[in-house]
Amino acid sequence: MEMKTIDSYDFNNQRALIRVDFNVPQDKTTGEVKDDTRIRAAIPTIKKILNDGGSAILMSHMGRPKGGPEEKYSLKKVVARTSELLGGEVKFVSDCIGTEAEAAAKSLKSGEVLLLENLRFHPEEEKGDENFARKLASLGDVYVNDAFGTAHRAHASTTIVAKFFPTEKKMFGYLMASEVTSAEKVLNNYEKPFTAIIGGAKVSDKILILEKLLDKADNIIIGGGMAYTFFKAMGGNIGNSLCEEDRLDTARELLEKAQQKKVNVLLPADSKIGESFSNETKVGECPSNQITSGAMGLDIGPRAIEDFRKVILQSKTILWNGPMGVFEFSNFQEGTKAIAEAVAAATQHGAYSLIGGGDSVSAINKFKLADKVSYVSTGGGAMLEYFEGKELPGVAAIGMG
Ligand code: AMP
Repeated sequence: MEMKTIDSYDFNNQRALIRVDFNVPQDKTTGEVKDDTRIRAAIPTIKKILNDGGSAILMSHMGRPKGGPEEKYSLKKVVARTSELLGGEVKFVSDCIGTEAEAAAKSLKSGEVLLLENLRFHPEEEKGDENFARKLASLGDVYVNDAFGTAHRAHASTTIVAKFFPTEKKMFGYLMASEVTSAEKVLNNYEKPFTAIIGGAKVSDKILILEKLLDKADNIIIGGGMAYTFFKAMGGNIGNSLCEEDRLDTARELLEKAQQKKVNVLLPADSKIGESFSNETKVGECPSNQITSGAMGLDIGPRAIEDFRKVILQSKTILWNGPMGVFEFSNFQEGTKAIAEAVAAATQHGAYSLIGGGDSVSAINKFKLADKVSYVSTGGGAMLEYFEGKELPGVAAIGMG
């Protein structure tokens, strides 16, 4: 599979219209950028274009404005940080379309960078409006999509805009390319044994990915709050643990299908339990299907850790989405931490490991193991949809070559 990336393009004297994901977390009161990971992730693409002698027009969304300009969602706040990371000036215009944006784009010289105001100040962005997309397209000579985090949305700037560029003038940036390559590696070019580790709160959020994995994985490890719906479905006692009563049949069906397809499903043999959803609650341990009323499972227990670790260490491909317990509480973080360490160890022994999805990404960062796994995805929702087997409109709009 060939991907059309910026590597094979010479941007000399070209104005590149780049869709980046600068939707960074901000301090609620000061508006300051709290975490610049997403800005950092776009820098290599911008630098390549500038080094070629091109100029860059950056466009992004930020937050969820209600359909018009709102100061707290202004991208003005990321100008300083972007300029610091690039080591040069970043110009800014207060509307992403219109005469000011057109004039600024036109007068942009080689090596210069222009950031457009929040795309979502126009409701046409999320509607995927053609007219709006055409106006955006008119600002650049070439279109580059480097926003994997929004690739699952058919918005004007992520998808529709690509229509207005000929095939040779639209391509993926480096971040987008590495996200897609790593997802493809796990989805379609995987080495066996392939183990998927799925955790988090709800079965309902993960059904589609679990269904898809039944056709690929050798082992599916299920942890986190969602495991208790499975135990309940099998007739176990789960006390006050998380449970989706309306998903008991789904859980049962998934287990049956796994058996038919000879996929090894591992549930946590034991759990760490508490009496309330709090770090201060008294901590106990018991088999996951024998939790008494008044108690709830908040992490996987030591036997489960051992079972899971063994399987992880024997794997050649690992996908991890969702924590094993309430890792935000220090008394219930052990399971998630141990699994993160096992994934890191397997990677050291030659396995390919991909961590995708918001909370497992924060977990791997919390335990400082992000550089010990093969790839940490920046696009939670987009990665999940990719694994559910859906075509991402932002990827399809450029094509895989
Ligand atoms: P998700 O967004 O579905 O991946 O879920 C992540 C959230 O699930 C995290 O905030 C965890 O604290 C929570 N979680 C994990 N295990 C449990 C559990 N046993 N009980 C309640 N919440 C859990």
